[in-house]
Amino acid sequence: MAKVTKINHIGIAVSDLDEALKFWRDILGIELDHIEDVPSSKAKVAFLPVGDSDVELVIPASEDAPIAKFIAEKGGGIHHLCIEVDDISAMLAQLKEKGVRLIDEEPKVMPGRKMAFIHPKATGGVLLELYEITK
Ligand code: ZN
Repeated sequence: MAKVTKINHIGIAVSDLDEALKFWRDILGIELDHIEDVPSSKAKVAFLPVGDSDVELVIPASEDAPIAKFIAEKGGGIHHLCIEVDDISAMLAQLKEKGVRLIDEEPKVMPGRKMAFIHPKATGGVLLELYEITK
């Protein structure tokens, strides 16, 4: 059986990265590790490690990005929680078997990780991301 091992990151939707970094990096003093493009979500993500987990700032890369819709509706804020699992394919199979509504039936392969989203309707309102670290 696949296992949840830790909270990998908390995703926070922001419309302006420089503006967000003024708080998270400059005021709180969390270092910016790196910024990545996530074409599958039409987003850019900035990772700021805090202990064993990250704050992930999610910025829309285009106007029709899902994250842009979220920001337009809610004005930004906490967008998703990401938990790490030891075997994402096994976890997705387990969830599917239990009738859990998934956004991604198959993991997306990114550098250093595989990822998939679980629908918030299945989790009590939390958009939940699964990660399996592959590096
Ligand atoms: Zn994320």
